[in-house]
Amino acid sequence: MRREACGSLRGKDVGRKVTLAGWVHRLRDLGGLTFVDLRDESGIVQLVFRELPDAHGLSREDVIRIQGTVALREAPNPDLPTGEVEVEVEHLEILSQTQPLPFPVDEEPPRASEETRLRYRYLDLRRPRMQRNLRLRHRTTMAIRAYLDRQDFIEVETPMLTRSTPEGARDFLVPSRLEPGKFYALPQSPQLFKQILVCSGVERYFQIVRCFRDEDLRADRQPEFTQLDLEMAFLEDPEELFSLIEGLLAHVFRETIEVELEVPFPRLPYEEAISRYGSDKPDLRFGLELSDVTELFSESEMRVLREAVAKGGRVFALRVPGGADFSRKELGELEEVAKTYKAKGLLWLARGEELRGPLAKFLPDPEPLWRATEAQPGDLLLFVADAFELAATALGQVRLELGRKLSLIPEGKWCPLWVVDFPLLEWSEEENRWNARHHPFTSPRADDLPKLMDPSFPSERLGELRANAYDLVLNGVELGGGSIRIHRREVQQRMLEVLGIGPEEAERRFGFFLRALEYGAPPHGGIALGLDRWVMMLAGEESLREVIAFPKTASGACPLTGAPAEVDPRQLAELHLQVKRG
Ligand code: ASP
Repeated sequence: MRREACGSLRGKDVGRKVTLAGWVHRLRDLGGLTFVDLRDESGIVQLVFRELPDAHGLSREDVIRIQGTVALREAPNPDLPTGEVEVEVEHLEILSQTQPLPFPVDEEPPRASEETRLRYRYLDLRRPRMQRNLRLRHRTTMAIRAYLDRQDFIEVETPMLTRSTPEGARDFLVPSRLEPGKFYALPQSPQLFKQILVCSGVERYFQIVRCFRDEDLRADRQPEFTQLDLEMAFLEDPEELFSLIEGLLAHVFRETIEVELEVPFPRLPYEEAISRYGSDKPDLRFGLELSDVTELFSESEMRVLREAVAKGGRVFALRVPGGADFSRKELGELEEVAKTYKAKGLLWLARGEELRGPLAKFLPDPEPLWRATEAQPGDLLLFVADAFELAATALGQVRLELGRKLSLIPEGKWCPLWVVDFPLLEWSEEENRWNARHHPFTSPRADDLPKLMDPSFPSERLGELRANAYDLVLNGVELGGGSIRIHRREVQQRMLEVLGIGPEEAERRFGFFLRALEYGAPPHGGIALGLDRWVMMLAGEESLREVIAFPKTASGACPLTGAPAEVDPRQLAELHLQVKRG
């Protein structure tokens, strides 16, 4: 269709005859005179209808084509790029008429529920904000591809119908029609394929790829999501990957939102992240660091503290500047946060004119505590005593809550960092065995490898081993993670054994991969970054659904198509399936 872009008209076009097509964004009917804001992808321009042609009967979101002449506007609109001009309509053609709208598409925030927005997603996506987000996502992937191409990476597609790849979630399964009783799994990640690609001589692989994890959905999760997945051969030192990814992030931020990120990003060992910020994804945009005050309480008169320390636990303190006059209610709310993260309680001590709080009478000499925490008169100290990670994490959540409550988190500040030296394994009480903290293909740090390989190394001490794994964290959000991989079969087999996967099961589940390690597997490593989350942050959005064209609801449904849906009994029969109800 021959037409010009609505958003392109300017003062220099005055007097020109134009053909435009688009959606009726807004209508103002002043009797003999009707103003219509016409919208296409490029923007909005004002149309004027004087008696003829007749604009009565037009509705918002009708699709029209007009011919007319560009004129200067009597009252320019400085908020619109086309605000200097309008188009005097001479000819009108209605291309498509709309039904009454379920919600107006020109309101921000939209007046519809999430469910309605998703059901009528084609209307929702017409909103300028959603158009902006789709475009930003496109520019992000374009920038990623351009950067990686320049760094000699190639994009390779890996299968969607495959075998289970353990990333710690439940698989989505697809029944096989040709082999009754057998199933494909949708990939939780392309982990094993990318490692096999590296073994296949693809030294620098990437893929912008869909992954599937059937987890109970939390507010910020989607059952299918997109990842920038990447792997490099001959990677032994993560520093090489860090500088590549730092360059990538800097490039994407510059190209999309014109922000200059400072490189290199700080590196923080896992233990330090936990003990200073109470989180393995610390938000570095504000201070409020925790202090480990365990030593000051090993002989405390207060039983809970003394006992926690005696059991090998720790006492962490958080200084709240000027917080001495917090009300009981405020303290109660903070305690609730700590309890949500499994702390038994939140102790407090206010350094007001006198000492207040449950700890006050157990503190004969507060000076060492003031020194350790740098507490000043007028400050409040909050404490959690428990096992190391639990105590720090609970207080870390209180820290985040205070960051929000006291407005300590500056807008427009970007604080990326690498968290390194994660534990290789974590103990699962439920399953009564070790699990891989990242995934089973992550190598231990070189200095811990002998311990992993030593069958006489006590099993209960395996938690001490560090992984050659790293996470990329941005403003308190885990943007991605990766590791240097195990590239020797015997190490991989031993790792699986430690995870309770014996040789037979290993052969059955991972034989194809173990074999690939036997025919010249180079040292390698990589990372995956969550693309949806990344774009969400670039867009300044709060929900992943705002940056995914067709997302699912929190219960995993697609209101637009009605998926998941029942299927025809014939299809079930072909798949050799029977549904058990109730
Ligand atoms: N496969 C991992 C994940 O999806 C990332 C990686 O180790 O590269 O989280």
